[in-house]
Amino acid sequence: MQIAKRIENLPPYLFVTISRKIAEKRARGEEVISFGIGDPDLATPSHIIERLCQAAKDPANHRYPESEGLPELRQAIAQWYQQRFDVGLDPNAEVLPLIGSKEGIGHLAWCLLNPGDVALVPDPAYPVYSISTTLADAEPYYLPLRPENGYLPDLGAVPQTILDRAKILWICYPNNPTGAVADTAFFDRVVAFAKQHDIIVCHDGPYTEVAYDGYRPPSFLQAVGAKEVGVEFHSLSKSYNMTGWRVGMVVGNSQVIDALKRFKSNLDSGIPQAIQLAAVEALTGPQDELTLHNNIYQRRRDLMVETLRDMGLEVLLPKASLYVWAKVPPGYDSAGFASELLEQVGVVVTPGTGYGKAGEGYVRLSLTIPDASLVKGLSRLSAWKGTLGRSK
Ligand code: PLP
Repeated sequence: MQIAKRIENLPPYLFVTISRKIAEKRARGEEVISFGIGDPDLATPSHIIERLCQAAKDPANHRYPESEGLPELRQAIAQWYQQRFDVGLDPNAEVLPLIGSKEGIGHLAWCLLNPGDVALVPDPAYPVYSISTTLADAEPYYLPLRPENGYLPDLGAVPQTILDRAKILWICYPNNPTGAVADTAFFDRVVAFAKQHDIIVCHDGPYTEVAYDGYRPPSFLQAVGAKEVGVEFHSLSKSYNMTGWRVGMVVGNSQVIDALKRFKSNLDSGIPQAIQLAAVEALTGPQDELTLHNNIYQRRRDLMVETLRDMGLEVLLPKASLYVWAKVPPGYDSAGFASELLEQVGVVVTPGTGYGKAGEGYVRLSLTIPDASLVKGLSRLSAWKGTLGRSK
């Protein structure tokens, strides 16, 4: 049997590899504490679960859903954008619900890129931007995100030969994996860049609602002219602890939305209807649990940053996102440091190189771990004795 080359060449997804390593250790009876994947440990708010249970009992919700989403859900998304960001959206043309945002991000490359086109992709970044580009026989061109530039891409450094072939630009703020944030002035620069070079902007913003110290991250669509050049992905996964429910959305430019709608209507049948109705409840019901959750993550963030700094690691205090991005100690590379922590103290951190070459020298730790395990994991990290070129 011959499998397609694009699949043969596909590396295993980052977290599949990490989960396998954890499973191997656990099978040997070793206790592993994982700061790996950013999957909220807190429960989905109960009013959303109750709405799902109620909707699941109605036979009307047992049939095929519409792939473009219920009008009620598109309306709720538009209303949420209006209230949260003061951004107006046409629920019929500028909003498309997704079966989790990963699905839409992955499929968008097929709608916007021809073979040989270039996608400008940040490095480090959520791996799906580059994987989907490659699967569409297009080419990622990596824009390094460096600490000295606040982990924003240097758009002025992209060579003209690349700009001539570039069709899309991916950005993500609050950022996974660095925890960096961007302001609307940066988004304004992105809109100007996109207009100048005729590039479609895809902003991935699942962490806008996970923020600390009173900070409220902006939407890309708040930049003047943003809708003319791009779209924004958002998700209920992180805001409402609903990663397992699979509800995301893409909003903004109607031509891009229409392309993805046509693509998806040929391939999938949408989000199960009872889940769509629960998503309406999430977006339009009480929002007070978001603050409670953010307070929990903020406390964890503070504890984690303090421990890592006590270990002598260089770490910035993230204003938003679920991640702490830590510089590895002298003498280590990302993979070496991550594997030493796993071997010596049974703690999983994600090597920065899992998100791209420019992630070298860093590891990512996630705040989505129950308090008791967090405390245990941090005390194990404190007890770690470096074996390479450093003393504690
Ligand atoms: N985009 C980024 C930057 C993410 O970190 C994630 C998940 O971790 C996603 C998209 C996918 O989220 P969803 O659960 O909506 O598919």
